[in-house]
Amino acid sequence: MEKTMQLYEGKAKKVYATSDENLVIVSYKDDATALDGLKKGTITGKGAINNRMSNYLMQLLEKEGVPTHFVKELNDRETVVRKVSIVPLEVIIRNISAGSFAKRYGVEEGIVFDEPTIEFSYKNDALHDPLINEYHALALKLASREEIETIKAMAFKVNSVLKAFFLSIGVKLVDFKLEFGRLPDGSIVLADEISPDTCRFWDAKTNEKLDKDRFRRDMGGVEDAYQEMMHRVFGE
Ligand code: ADP
Ligand code: UDP
Repeated sequence: MEKTMQLYEGKAKKVYATSDENLVIVSYKDDATALDGLKKGTITGKGAINNRMSNYLMQLLEKEGVPTHFVKELNDRETVVRKVSIVPLEVIIRNISAGSFAKRYGVEEGIVFDEPTIEFSYKNDALHDPLINEYHALALKLASREEIETIKAMAFKVNSVLKAFFLSIGVKLVDFKLEFGRLPDGSIVLADEISPDTCRFWDAKTNEKLDKDRFRRDMGGVEDAYQEMMHRVFGE
């Protein structure tokens, strides 16, 4: 499978067309952004780690019955995925308070919820990805009621599979962002990536941050945190 023309360059990945109109190749970059694009930098080795970790997790989810866009890992940074039409929603699941949840509701980080929460942002950079509810998503015609129900059920299923997996490697899955897409037949699959860029990971014993918060908050040890997550997942 060969790349033909570049279709899109995002903040963290490039997307290329292939000779098969139903497949695209994603190429993961080391570029990192945060704070709504205001903070820019490089995390050496991030592209390869996110690519490999995302592919591993997508395959684990497939085994557990969650349909995903994953097709084939080509090399360290590049993967063939099914081309989807992205549903313009960022779907965020939380198990423990952190980040914008703690800030918005004036609570400390680290409160363990009795049940996971779900929230949606309208994926629109110009509007800074505003928080919306399901009725807003329907009014804006971002997805149908049936699609929203499917997405919610899939997102909670992803959470239960990943939460258990990460706990088994000594990591608390605090929160994460998912994106879903439509295949040509209209069915919904999990798309984009699952990585330390899109999840908060805390060491189960020490609560040490092992994710992009180290970059967002200028904590140092960013590359080491990504490497540590890679070692835990792949046991290397
Ligand atoms: P952003 O667009 O937020 O800067 P990225 O740099 O990660 O994000 O770019 C990757 C883009 O590819 C995103 O817009 C994402 O929604 C999109 N995408 C992810 N998976 C697929 C897929 N299977 N088919 C088509 N587009 C995808
Ligand atoms: N997240 C993401 N992309 C975004 C916004 C959030 O991947 O554009 C992830 C983030 O890594 C975290 C979760 O979604 O795991 C919840 O993020 P939050 O709403 O707390 O926002 P933040 O504090 O990152 O602004």
